[in-house]
Order: sequence, then structure tokens, then C-alpha cells
Amino acid sequence: MLLILIIIIALGLSFGSFANCLVWRLYRQEKISGRSYCPRCLKKLWWHDNIPLFSYLRLGGRCRFCHQPISWQYPAVEVIVAGLFVFFWFKHLGFAWVDLETLSLFFNFDFWLALIRDYLAVFVLTVVFVFDLRFYLVSNAVVIPAALVFAGLNLLLGASWYVLFLGIAGAVAFFGLQFLVTRGRGLGEGDIWLGLLLASLFPDWSLLILAILSAYLLGTIVGLVLIIAGRKEWSSKLPLGVFLAVGALITLAWGPALLTAYWSFQL
Ligand SMILES: [Zn+2]
Repeated sequence: MLLILIIIIALGLSFGSFANCLVWRLYRQEKISGRSYCPRCLKKLWWHDNIPLFSYLRLGGRCRFCHQPISWQYPAVEVIVAGLFVFFWFKHLGFAWVDLETLSLFFNFDFWLALIRDYLAVFVLTVVFVFDLRFYLVSNAVVIPAALVFAGLNLLLGASWYVLFLGIAGAVAFFGLQFLVTRGRGLGEGDIWLGLLLASLFPDWSLLILAILSAYLLGTIVGLVLIIAGRKEWSSKLPLGVFLAVGALITLAWGPALLTAYWSFQL
């Protein structure tokens, strides 16, 4: 079990590292292949300086060549993705330590499909989060293929295709209308594609609505806090993709539990 945990953490750190790299290269419109380099002195990194987290710690957070500090964003994203990978592993195993019942899960095709879907979701939502937070952009090159993959995986997992289809139509219409009404000032075109992504990820209307509502709620709270703290003006824009990514992750992790709690509260 410890070995499995180490593999999952290593996998999470690598996916986090890849997410960082993907955001940077999509923004600079560079090829995805090719060796990484220091963004300040442009020197290519040695392969052993490219190991997630450990290289950062060993180099003391500075570039080997120019000794300029490396952004803490890199190790932070790596650690968060690794933590989420561990979380979703245990979520699918029911937070139980290995016994015969959990072992039988390893031979269950749906277990692996659902795990792959959630790991991909963590990865894609991390890319959306970091990209929108740093550059106020949403990358269609990531969001649209990811939406197709999620729709496919969910159909394989037994989602109903017309619920999926209507969810997509509804989400795209919801964001598209806001885009038209505000003439693109309230939210960007990329947010319409994020609607497509969320609807493909949640082939269940209540989960989809929960993800979008929690994103708007989070955005409102963070926006108010920033205004009170004097960091933002009333008119300044907040990157909606950041909150949609967090809302989707919360829904992925606790969505059904939150809905159950909500309905029992109603009764
Ligand atoms: Zn450097």
C-alpha cells in the first residue's frame, strides 16, 4: 500500500509539473516537446534539475545558472496536484485501508475509468486555474479536447447521452447568453467553452448546476474580500475560469454528499 501511495504521489507531482509546463508553453505558443529552460536566463535545464519538487528544494528555489528565484507557483502546483491525486484515490477506495473487498476493485474496469476521469479532471482544471489566474485566458486547445474525452469517458461509465447532450446545450446557452448580454465584457468567450467542459464532466444536471453556482458564489466572496481589502475596484474583472475550476473540483470531490445534505436540510 505504501508503494502504491508513493507511485500516486510521484504521478501527481509529474502531472503538476506537466501542467505548469503546458500553461507556460501554450501562453508562449511554443511546442509542447523540447527541453525546459529557465524563463529568465533562457538556459536549458539539466534533466536532473527537472525533477518535480525535489529539484526545486535541492536548488533552494533558484536557477542553477543565473541564481534568480524560481516562482513558487511551480512547486505549489505540483504539491496540490499530488495531494488531489491521493485524495481521489482514497475517495474511490472509500477511504478504507486495503482489504479483500478493496482489492477486488482493482479488477473492476469502471473503477479505473472513473479514476482516470478524475485524475484527468484534476489535471485539466489545474491548467485552467493557473492559466486564467496568471494570464486571464482560457486555452481552447486544452478545454475542447478535454471536454470530448470527459464526454466519452462518462458515456463509457453509463451516463445517459441525452442528459449529457442537454447539459452541454444548457451550459453553453447559459454562458453564451451572458456573453451576448454583456457584449463580452462580463465574461470571455473562453468561459463558454468552460461551460462545455463542465457539462461534459458532470452528466448530471444537479451536479452541473452545483459546480456553476459554487463558482459564482466563490467569485462573489473573493471579489467582495478583495474590494474590502482595497486590492480591487468594483469595476475590475475577476477571472471566472479560476472559480469555475475550483467549483468543479469541489463538486467532483463532494458534489453528491453536498446535494444529499442540501435535500435532507430541505426536509
Ligand atoms: Zn536562469
